Amino acid sequence: MARFIFVAGGVMSGIGKGVATASIGKILQSKGFKVTAIKIDPYINVDAGTMNPIEHGEIFVTDDGTECDQDVGNYERFLDTNLTTDNYITTGRVYQAVILRERNLEYEGRCVEVVPDIPNEVISRIKKAAKKNKADFVLVEIGGTVGEYQNMLFLEAARMMKISRPKNVLFILVSYLPIPEMIGEMKTKPTQNATKSLNEAGIQPDIILGRSRVLLDEPRKRKISIFCNVAKEDVISAPDVKSIYEIPLNFEKENLGNRILKKFDLRPRKQNLEDWKKLVKIIKTTKRPVKIGVVGKYFETGRFTLMDSYISIIEAIKHASWFFKRKPEIYWLSAEKYENSEQGSRNLAELKKFDGIIVPGGFGNRGVEGKIKAIEFCRKNKIPYLGLCLGMQLSVVEFARNACGLRRAASTEFSSKCQEPVIDVMPEQKALLKEKKYGGTMRLGAYKCKIKPKTVSFRAFRSFYTSERHRHRYELNNEFREVLEKKGMIMAGINPEKNLVEIIEIKNHPFFVGTQFHPEYKSRPLRPHPLFKEFVKAAIQPQRF
Ligand code: GLN
Repeated sequence: MARFIFVAGGVMSGIGKGVATASIGKILQSKGFKVTAIKIDPYINVDAGTMNPIEHGEIFVTDDGTECDQDVGNYERFLDTNLTTDNYITTGRVYQAVILRERNLEYEGRCVEVVPDIPNEVISRIKKAAKKNKADFVLVEIGGTVGEYQNMLFLEAARMMKISRPKNVLFILVSYLPIPEMIGEMKTKPTQNATKSLNEAGIQPDIILGRSRVLLDEPRKRKISIFCNVAKEDVISAPDVKSIYEIPLNFEKENLGNRILKKFDLRPRKQNLEDWKKLVKIIKTTKRPVKIGVVGKYFETGRFTLMDSYISIIEAIKHASWFFKRKPEIYWLSAEKYENSEQGSRNLAELKKFDGIIVPGGFGNRGVEGKIKAIEFCRKNKIPYLGLCLGMQLSVVEFARNACGLRRAASTEFSSKCQEPVIDVMPEQKALLKEKKYGGTMRLGAYKCKIKPKTVSFRAFRSFYTSERHRHRYELNNEFREVLEKKGMIMAGINPEKNLVEIIEIKNHPFFVGTQFHPEYKSRPLRPHPLFKEFVKAAIQPQRF
């Protein structure tokens, strides 16, 4: 029978509730239990696909094509498992289902009400995920912070589950403990207030994870224990860490896993965090760097620049670097600085300082020409290059223009009347786009890719097939395949069902690979993605220059 652990946040958002949830899952998994995790986002959006990266950070994509919150990516990475649409709940999804059911007369004439019908729908979704994953434990992370209006109905669902099965439901509050500079002391009051808000919703936390800059000391633990009504052993430190992968180990130092099991009257079935410990040791001790430049379009909000929209790429670079016992150093290079013809070309020379360059995915034409310049520089100077989705499409445009003499080559995404549309939408998509049916025009989720033998990709995958996740509308236009191939582009991966190009490579280059899919979504700390691995391997070859 499944057990449910709800994780709610106190004081403020952005304190790492997602990685805390993923870490708790990792610990329970290491003790021999089957774990799954659900992210609840309180917004009205049905999924994250329609939000821009400033609003939302990265849009993570699962195998089944769900466009969801990046925390689902954290769960996948920590638990090394593939999740589905059942692992993601939003207010929009819940209301949509209830309203649809009402319209279909499935409530048999009765009045449909916010309470209990909305929480009941939430509960049935949580139970469905438990069943489908045959989970011993379901972690449910409730987005936002306690006390706010938006997530109330989800807390209500959690409360209702607790009354119906008190022994199977546990609450964890992840709360922030500030250390104001002028006081120099860690303050517990905001956490006390957060606990009170949770109490008002009818919920008593069983465990409190104290997020702070440093470890919680005895007086702090005692205070939280008394004022928040939890045992002192259930107040767990969650200090800042250099690497998120340390977090499960830190929690275990405070015995979190066994505290949880004890509350459910369970015993560990085994204990196995050895591989994880080895990885963390590498993370903490490797010194030799590998320098990767990411030529992207960066998002600014006020005085802050957001890197969150590239989180899966960052993690994938890290996983591959650690595999080779290298310390990943990631540099953010704004594509726009390569655009201006004079200063731009001078700026390009800096790319030589890096061991490898990535052009990530993206939408919209800001920075596109700068990215094309950077790609040309990498191709001609034999700098290892990995192009992801838009990064692949632009390497096709670059190659068409500069190696095949198709001077007007472009993607129809950026110039709809382009004469040499090397990147274009498929005909069946065009009809949908005309009717503004954008929803049906994205290629989303996992597609099969057949890999050509004797290519760099084949060397990486060591297999004739892979399955990789997509999120894009445009494709390499098959009409141009022949000219591109003639000049030295290799179509190294093909989707067999639709005959679409999935991977391109360039001949006589140490590593020049572009993928129409997003390999970064499938990289895991202990199982780096083969293409990222091969890319980093090429980047650290000393004989490159
Ligand atoms: N904008 C491009 C497309 O829709 C690339 C998308 C991406 O990089 N994810 O095809």
